[in-house]
Amino acid sequence: MSRIGLTAQRKLILDIVSEASDHPTASDIIDRLKLQGQTVAYATVYNSLRYLTDQGLIRELKLEGDASRYDARMEDHQHIVCTSCGRVDEVMTEIPKDWLRQIEAETGYSITEEQLLFKGVCAECRTSNNKAVQ
Ligand SMILES: [Zn+2]
Ligand SMILES: [Zn+2]
Repeated sequence: MSRIGLTAQRKLILDIVSEASDHPTASDIIDRLKLQGQTVAYATVYNSLRYLTDQGLIRELKLEGDASRYDARMEDHQHIVCTSCGRVDEVMTEIPKDWLRQIEAETGYSITEEQLLFKGVCAECRTSNNKAVQ
């Protein structure tokens, strides 16, 4: 699979998003570029993220009260946010089709996309909370 047309910087940014499992923000990406010894201007990172999103290589995830995050997983999935540490994880469980049909019947819409956001306390935070209590 070739990625002709990607500049070296865009390729670097795409790699960071692809390798990340935590849905990084633009500033997370800048920090990771720095760790790799790459200094890339903020505007360049933003423009690259916009370009990669427009090309359908990554997707932008807008969560309430949070900077945009970026996700290289393109198949349909939902997200769950930890209310304690703020991490964002994937939810791969499929949304029941008859639930979608019920929503269409109720609203008269034809649903083209679903974006659900679940909230809770992640396994790590639950473990450390339990430790704190003991
Ligand atoms: Zn957590
Ligand atoms: Zn995701």
